Amino acid sequence: MKRLLCVGVLVFGIAGPASAQGILGRLGRAANKVESLADQLKDFVITEQEEKDMGEALSARLREKYGVVQSAPVHTYVSLVGRVVAASSDRPNLGWTFIVLDTDGVNAFAAPGGYVHITRGALALIDNEAELAGVLGHEITHVTAKHTINAIKKSKVKGAVAESATRSDVLEYLVNQAYDNLLENQYDQKDETASDQIGIRLANTAGYAPDGLGSFLTRLSERNKDLKEPSGVFASHPATRSRVDRLTKQITSEKLTSTATVEARYTASISYAPLPVTSIVGGEGASSLAESPDAKKAATPTPATKSKFGLGGLTSKLGPDKANTGTVASAGSRGVNPDRDAKGGANSRIVIVTITPAQIEAFRRGISG
Ligand SMILES: [Zn+2]
Repeated sequence: MKRLLCVGVLVFGIAGPASAQGILGRLGRAANKVESLADQLKDFVITEQEEKDMGEALSARLREKYGVVQSAPVHTYVSLVGRVVAASSDRPNLGWTFIVLDTDGVNAFAAPGGYVHITRGALALIDNEAELAGVLGHEITHVTAKHTINAIKKSKVKGAVAESATRSDVLEYLVNQAYDNLLENQYDQKDETASDQIGIRLANTAGYAPDGLGSFLTRLSERNKDLKEPSGVFASHPATRSRVDRLTKQITSEKLTSTATVEARYTASISYAPLPVTSIVGGEGASSLAESPDAKKAATPTPATKSKFGLGGLTSKLGPDKANTGTVASAGSRGVNPDRDAKGGANSRIVIVTITPAQIEAFRRGISG
């Protein structure tokens, strides 16, 4: 196992509602000069509401691909750990939503607006609450630190936004690109390292042993040791050994001294058993490579994105390089990736749980040991 997996889709910049007119005007002019899409989007600022809309649209696509575990107790438990960790982040009141995806693949995905996803397979591999807190802290940081724009810039899309594109078209395009980036783990290493560093600080502040993330990554690396290529969401991460070494040094230098692992509560709440990576069954798109059905799916917005963003408009409004150039290019570089391509559950309905402040406080008192 050479690299770790984590996937985060983050937000790119939040500000007041800038003039749509002005933004689109700049986009239009840039298109005429055949600048890269990343250049065109440099000044594109999204509002917090748009961030949430994008996160919801991305989440809908993930839920459709992998299904959702239809268990309120499991969602309540993961949400409590996530809320306690997010409480010490710099966006504690974002309106966090934690979703458990119904697949044996080991993955985690962060989407703009506070949508954090973790798979059933990841929960099965995790041994205690401190490890879960470390993984969620990493994903939460992808959200709070707004890493998405970096990922989109790195993806080197060749399309250009046409003069006639609306703001909604641009947002729809960004959602599609972010979804692709998310599944392909195209994250900047600096962003991954920052998410590790800040994520374990958040877990430590909540009272969890800060080595939880490193313990989980080490176990994951052991599980994947016979794979020729990185698998799953944490695939954009640096080599596990150096990553864990860096975390260990940070724990010492920053004197992160919390000790709670809360294993008993974890095992009482989560009873999934991990599957060997070689036993994971592929779902739609598992054939991978250039003609992957999943790649085609990624190029076409699913019905789930219809509600917020106009469907189909963008493809025709992108320049001559076509909207899906980036998707096809990345599909060509796809290899075997059992975690990404794992079969998902049939029910994509989100499980909404209500968490009260009193519940969080009571839960927090259980973080000890
Ligand atoms: Zn990550």
